[in-house]
Amino acid sequence: MQPFETVVVDTDLLILGGGMSACGATFEASYWAKKHGLKVTVVDKAAMDRSGAVAMGLSAINEYIGYGKGQNTCEDYVKYVRQDLMGISREDLVYDIARHVDSSVHLFEKWGLPIWKDEKGEYVHEGRWQIMINGESYKVIVAEAAKNALATLGENGQLFERVFIVEPLMNGDTCVGAVGFSVREPKFYVFKAKATIVCMGGAVHVFRPRSVGEGLGRAWYPPWNCGSSAYFTIRAGAEMTCQEVRFIPVRFKDGYGPVGAWFLLFKSRATNAFGGEYMVERAEELKKWAPYGTGKPIPANLRNWLGMEDIMEGKGPIYMRTEEAIANLAAAYKDDPKAFKKKMKELEAEAWEDFLDMTITQSFLWAATNVKPEEKPSEIAAAEPYFIGSHSGASGAWVCGPEDLMPEEYKAQWKDIGLYNRMSTVKGLFCAGDASGASSHKFSSGSHAEGRIAAKGAIAYILDHNQAPEVDMAKVEELKERILKPLQIFEQYSPISSDPEINPNYIMPKMFMFRLQKIMDEYAGGVTAQFTTNKPMLERALELLQFLKEDSEKLAARDLHELMRAWENVHRMWIAESHVRHILFREETRWPGYYFRADFPDMDEENWKCFVNSVWNPQTGEWTLKKVPVVHLPV
Ligand code: FAD
Repeated sequence: MQPFETVVVDTDLLILGGGMSACGATFEASYWAKKHGLKVTVVDKAAMDRSGAVAMGLSAINEYIGYGKGQNTCEDYVKYVRQDLMGISREDLVYDIARHVDSSVHLFEKWGLPIWKDEKGEYVHEGRWQIMINGESYKVIVAEAAKNALATLGENGQLFERVFIVEPLMNGDTCVGAVGFSVREPKFYVFKAKATIVCMGGAVHVFRPRSVGEGLGRAWYPPWNCGSSAYFTIRAGAEMTCQEVRFIPVRFKDGYGPVGAWFLLFKSRATNAFGGEYMVERAEELKKWAPYGTGKPIPANLRNWLGMEDIMEGKGPIYMRTEEAIANLAAAYKDDPKAFKKKMKELEAEAWEDFLDMTITQSFLWAATNVKPEEKPSEIAAAEPYFIGSHSGASGAWVCGPEDLMPEEYKAQWKDIGLYNRMSTVKGLFCAGDASGASSHKFSSGSHAEGRIAAKGAIAYILDHNQAPEVDMAKVEELKERILKPLQIFEQYSPISSDPEINPNYIMPKMFMFRLQKIMDEYAGGVTAQFTTNKPMLERALELLQFLKEDSEKLAARDLHELMRAWENVHRMWIAESHVRHILFREETRWPGYYFRADFPDMDEENWKCFVNSVWNPQTGEWTLKKVPVVHLPV
């Protein structure tokens, strides 16, 4: 195996990831670091301009309060998230983001993001909280601002791209940085830091996707986020929360195009193949899930659930009635042929742009299958499960909230290590975006705002604990050997078989991923199991995951790219295990439409209106799970 240079980077604040929350963290941290002469280092496995979930662009900003405009308040947002997550959310965190999010949006506009305006100069709303943007370059604009801010630090601001972070560096119970490797050159990186912010997104391809074979790789969630945030925080010994709360979006089928603009802006209906409208015909079912099912807006998982019931009854496919919605919108112009033609062109352009802004593949699929949305409806379907705590999922680390809002019950946990906003239960380890749990619906704007909040907390922590981190370099050498092992395994054993993909001594990352996906799909409530599972199924999943864990020691990689693939899948395996343990622990069905516990088919407000939190003990390798009360804010 070629020698790998060890590169040691000493810094004050380490920001892991280059997505929306990392950009927010970098922007804010640079301001405070400059004041105090501190170093900031950012590490992304990809290139910040186009990395993370916003890489392709977006067509709407989904969290905007419009604070002070007399329309919405932060309290309203807290109630909205409480309702959508069936009562389970950290309302102090949600409120904290809501009170900061508008300023992130205003910064985006200042940096050049085109936000749609109406004739009065007000933002055009897609829904109550969502505003429309021309967002194909959204990520480039936000990344540029982050990089500019970092550049103001001169040598004290460093950005490493194409470096994959594998593991936390620990000194006892304190996080002192991270290790990883370059995916372009033989370099092993050791980042020593006084505080670390985890911003490495959520996870996709843990469950078998609907798109297999020819379509493999296509998913709603972009392919590069693989559970690194969860892996990093779990392995550091941080308490995790809501790891059972996965997200299954209903999207245009096979291209995964967004439905928000159709439902909210174009006021479209979804009907089954026989013209029935499940939201109307199955309205009675919602009462079973009261008070959330009978509240407004109807939670995303319950809307999914009603559509799924149609599918299970053989009434599919489900269609988005684009032709009907466009006809309704153009109806007002019917008597003026010229105005009608103009309106139809405008609507047609908006329909295509919605996809071209953020899910280009869906427009390819429309073009390839001769779809004219103004003439023909399109199929929609529930995708496969994803982990995205910043969207409608909630998985992530259990973090400290703001001192003025965090309930006393939660504060107790941080009394010995200090109340630093967004610090996990591990000293020096902060989280934002998908990495911090129980605060859903932050989306792109709220993740950016939370990155800024976490950066401020982390800088405060550094100023209070301004000692050089102690790193045991012997341990680092062990980590280096373990992390590079797949390369060595491939080199040693590949010559003994005629096809390097198949070998009795090792498993290639792709095959490993297929096995993980099969376990999760069949036993943990994936697509083929109609998102349904039960105790024996979950216990079998754990048994099979244990075998997979043993085989992870035999992962092989022929190059740096495949080394990344190997570790991506180890990260996926850990979030999978944590997910299964959480679902198993929660003995009820709270989010039908995301998953269904067939052995506990009802929601149990009395016993399970609580968070499920877990800790993996790095010393013993044991998991412990517990209930934590939900404390509502008085709103
Ligand atoms: P991301 O922005 O995904 O960033 C994660 C970063 O971590 C990336 O830079 C990645 O390269 C890096 N990374 C991952 N693993 C590693 C590793 N091991 N080492 C180093 N770096 C690593 N929000 C809206 O406001 N409006 C919308 O219309 C909207 N639509 C969406 C559509 C889709 C398909 C998805 C997936 C999300 C959508 N969102 C939308 C939500 C929004 O994109 C996310 O909330 C936001 O991007 C989360 O920010 P983050 O920083 O946590 O993660």
